[in-house]
Amino acid sequence: MQSKYSGSETLSVSELPNNIYRALTGDAGGMENRISAIPQEMEFLNVIGKRFVAAIDRFHVHRALLTTLQDLYTFSACCILLRGDPNELFIIPCQPLSHDFIEEMIRRITDAARAIDFPPMDIRQLTEMAYLDAPDEVAQFRTQEAIEATEVGSSINIPLIVNNRIIGILSLFDELIGTFDTELLKTTAIIADYAAIALETVRLRERENALWRQAELERQRLELILRSMTEALLITDENGVVSSLNQSARTLLSQVIGDVEIGVSLSTLAQINNTPWLFTLADIVHQALQGQTVKDQELIAGESGEKVPMTWWVSVAPLHDASGIKTRPIGTVVVLTDVTASKQVERLKDEFVSVVSHELRTPLTSIKGYTQHLIRRIERRVRKFREQTPPGSQPVELPESIDLRSLAIVQSQTEHLERLVDELLDRSRIQWGQLILQYEDFHLADLLASSVRSVQASTEQHTIHLDIQVQDTTVTADRARIEQVVGNLLDNAVKYSPHGGQIVVQLHKYLTNEFADSVDSDNSDHNYAYLVSISDYGIGISPEHLDHIFERFYRISNASTRQYSGVGLGLYITKAIVEAHGGRIWVASNGPTGGTTFFFTIPRVPSTLR
Ligand code: ADP
Repeated sequence: MQSKYSGSETLSVSELPNNIYRALTGDAGGMENRISAIPQEMEFLNVIGKRFVAAIDRFHVHRALLTTLQDLYTFSACCILLRGDPNELFIIPCQPLSHDFIEEMIRRITDAARAIDFPPMDIRQLTEMAYLDAPDEVAQFRTQEAIEATEVGSSINIPLIVNNRIIGILSLFDELIGTFDTELLKTTAIIADYAAIALETVRLRERENALWRQAELERQRLELILRSMTEALLITDENGVVSSLNQSARTLLSQVIGDVEIGVSLSTLAQINNTPWLFTLADIVHQALQGQTVKDQELIAGESGEKVPMTWWVSVAPLHDASGIKTRPIGTVVVLTDVTASKQVERLKDEFVSVVSHELRTPLTSIKGYTQHLIRRIERRVRKFREQTPPGSQPVELPESIDLRSLAIVQSQTEHLERLVDELLDRSRIQWGQLILQYEDFHLADLLASSVRSVQASTEQHTIHLDIQVQDTTVTADRARIEQVVGNLLDNAVKYSPHGGQIVVQLHKYLTNEFADSVDSDNSDHNYAYLVSISDYGIGISPEHLDHIFERFYRISNASTRQYSGVGLGLYITKAIVEAHGGRIWVASNGPTGGTTFFFTIPRVPSTLR
């Protein structure tokens, strides 16, 4: 049987059968009556519930509330004060209201709010924030004569409660005395509960919408930024699958591997195209998925035969879940920067420096040769003159001696220039992977001894000690290059200890496990390496520079170091030579004694010859 009330929006309490009315008003009646009224009572609550559930915004809630309350009473207005920042007051009139009546309502609401510990506010504030939400039929009816009542005859205030939290107050007002039947208070409170939940739902929905709009705006802004970025940007998911890429990335990638589709994994892309750089990129992304950030790694994306192949810098960062629930990265952000143009400029600069250095080397060699020739001739002449001078005669300063000193300066300056030119040529070689080593067997101890002798000959202020605790010091290496390494470090030790002092060169041999997978037995010669240290007690290097001094053209420039000549290539070349031999180089400050110690290692036999 279809209920009389199902789906109805026109239900009125006054139309309710007597027994339900009594049940709602708490009028006991008979037990039998109350039991028979339950289904209809539930039906009534169902209708109210539907009205509130259907409300999609706060104004719909107000209408549902007004309609339901009007089923119970005939009254002048209802008001809703909502707690918030700021509080909000809605006045919903059932009929046109006079100014005095409204003022009186607001005064009473202020008192009620104070009584239930609402954040403090006065009548003026509440009046200013009040919003008159008049239903159409009331809003149109604005003639002065219709507004008669100036005093409130009766009122009730019911707190609006959700989850034991007072979210506001519902207040009903009428011009007549005794309108709000205390017997209907229970029903009014139930309606207030419905209204409270509906208002809270609307508030949450509004907040959710606002957040969604904000998130959408943010998303659009981000998309715009990504689209207009000149850097190519690629986003991958947690499996290294490309989930999005900007226009710059599409353009850049299309130059080498054609169109890249979203949804393809980088390793699949690498396999399809079989290009080493894509395998490297997939590897870097894999590292980032383990939580590592990779910065500015060079990728050669062009043909290796080209003079300046297409070169990119790639930086990859792990993408973490904003909620922090997942500990593993949920993807990666890949930024590719095309540096081919700057590589081309660099190459041109290098070629220029290399050509000029070559051109300079030939005249320098002749200047050096002729200077040496002149020095030898003049020395012979001076020696002859001395031999012819009778013993005991007064020593005379020969003009040739002055010439000899001048020529010594020319020679040392030429050597300085020659070193500079060699450093520039080496730098080009290292840069373009053309540092070729000529291996030979020799005794490292002999090389160190001859280097120490030659540097010692150039300085009287310093004493260079050679401390070798090793019997057999045979090594397979590029002798000239190792000489260059030791020479550079010794020259620096002398140069950067301007007040002279000791310089200590030590040589140790150690068993290394770096080559553990080598086929040789544990104590084979092949498993040994040498450690050379060169300590000075000079100006030292402050900690912030320690990590950088091996970089190209890096020089410590401050008031105390400006006096030292150099271009900052020596340590760069030294490091490249040591590493080409499979060794390592590092530096440490000497602590309280001051000065610096450089260490480098060199395997007894290079891994390529093992
Ligand atoms: P440079 O031609 O300037 O000597 P290097 O590459 O040999 O170039 O050295 C780089 C910088 O490292 C130097 O400018 C100097 O500031 C610092 N340096 C190198 N060796 C020493 C040392 N033994 N003591 C103090 N500073 C040093």
